[in-house]
Amino acid sequence: MTATRERTVLEAVPTGLLIGGRWRDATGGATLAVDDPATGETLARVADATVADGRAALDAAVAAQADWAAVPPRDRGELLRAAYEKLTARADDFAMIMTLEMGKPLAESRGEVAYGAEFFRWFSEEAVRVGGRYSTSPNGATRLLTMKQPVGPTLMITPWNFPLAMGTRKIGPAIAAGCTMVMKPASATPLTMLALAELLRECGLPDGVLNAITTSSTGQVIEPLIRDPRLRKLTFTGSTEVGRTLLEQASQQVLRVSMELGGNAPFLVFGDADLDKAVDGAVTAKMRNMGEACTAANRFYVHESVAEEFSRRLAERLGALRLGRGTDDGVDVGPLVDAKSRDKVSALVDDAVAKGAKVLVGGSSPEGAGWFYRPTVLSQVPADARLAREEIFGPVAPVSSFTSDEEAVRMANDTEYGLVAYLFTRDLSRALLVSEALQFGMVGVNQGIVSNPAAPFGGVKASGVGREGGFEGIEEYLETKYVGLAL
Ligand code: NAP
Repeated sequence: MTATRERTVLEAVPTGLLIGGRWRDATGGATLAVDDPATGETLARVADATVADGRAALDAAVAAQADWAAVPPRDRGELLRAAYEKLTARADDFAMIMTLEMGKPLAESRGEVAYGAEFFRWFSEEAVRVGGRYSTSPNGATRLLTMKQPVGPTLMITPWNFPLAMGTRKIGPAIAAGCTMVMKPASATPLTMLALAELLRECGLPDGVLNAITTSSTGQVIEPLIRDPRLRKLTFTGSTEVGRTLLEQASQQVLRVSMELGGNAPFLVFGDADLDKAVDGAVTAKMRNMGEACTAANRFYVHESVAEEFSRRLAERLGALRLGRGTDDGVDVGPLVDAKSRDKVSALVDDAVAKGAKVLVGGSSPEGAGWFYRPTVLSQVPADARLAREEIFGPVAPVSSFTSDEEAVRMANDTEYGLVAYLFTRDLSRALLVSEALQFGMVGVNQGIVSNPAAPFGGVKASGVGREGGFEGIEEYLETKYVGLAL
């Protein structure tokens, strides 16, 4: 990939605020820098919204709501379908933008574009399937009618790790349901979302339906919107820490919320597992997005009879991966997003080693520019190591062993999080019984990836509330109204 091509792609991305269908500068003209995590160099500057700009975005969403809700579902579906086609046709450009601002290898970015676009296709089909019901009350005296209506103006906040898919997973169902939006992408990776907002505009999304703002004063700009009684829903994907703060703010007006928060996924390998599949699954569950995924396997619990072999094979696979700038050919692992993330990963590994864990591969950062950390496998990790409790968000696989199914389930559930768990076994009964016992919103059986637009994605406990994707995804943007008819 040449620098010229990178420049051409970047220059086509809008850098303003999209408010009421018009791109404009922030009030006062301030901008914020978007950096390349592989080099630390600034790629672009985008508008740095003020509190007044944030309010203007909500004003536009509120003004557009009634007309948008009245657009026929088929038309909203067709618009989503057109956006799916356009995004797919422009996959290479979107992948390039994402790799430049976020760091993941181009092949992974292309995978995210395909995954992210699928939410538009899925919800283009769901838009025309929203229905209510009609029934007779048990005493026969009345008729019960339910109708589904759009929730209304929705504030969307997304993280930097999946700059496209975390947005389309929200925008798709909101468009299908007839909600207007204020979208705020992460400050580290706003370019993908700004390019997507422009793509939706080109597809004919009416003015004011999607408003996009970028800001470095995140808390100050967002809190007044959450407290504004015209806002009807908040949907957030990000850390549990920030999610808790937003839930407190949202409680004031009892705002409808969806929260996709942090994870601490256990990865269970039973003694009867197909080890080839388990190692493949482990590489996927650990290394997707350099480990910077809420679904990343964070703790590996392996039956004592296969723990050594599994760890050795996983170390061989991770040790063979090539680090580098995501735009370069043959690169498997990009940099972490910033210095803070890399230092956190490094500190977690040092803590585990100090408490007795053994480094099988990796365990350090390479010299030179960029926030790289070597893919790492640790064995004999003690339960009191910090990385058994905290989200690592990096390419580190800590392995511990267990002796019984009960112990494996107890260790897996011993966390405040509950997003996803993975298990590998050839025994169907064990797979089902352990799936039932795991306190997680999603379980991957003999597979290291669960994300699928047709499935309800989401967590329990401190991993959040609500589901994205699947039949459930559109419900998050609909209210159920009941009408009683006396005869
Ligand atoms: P983060 O720090 O919580 O930030 C997420 C978003 O929240 C960003 O847009 C950020 O804006 C915004 N934000 C931060 N402070 C805010 C405040 N006071 N008020 C309003 N908005 C605020 O999380 P992150 O580091 O970007 O993402 C990593 C986290 O996301 C991990 O914990 C990961 O597990 C989680 N995640 C969860 C899922 C899921 O589906 N469950 C998916 C992906 C990621 P700025 O960028 O401007 O700070």
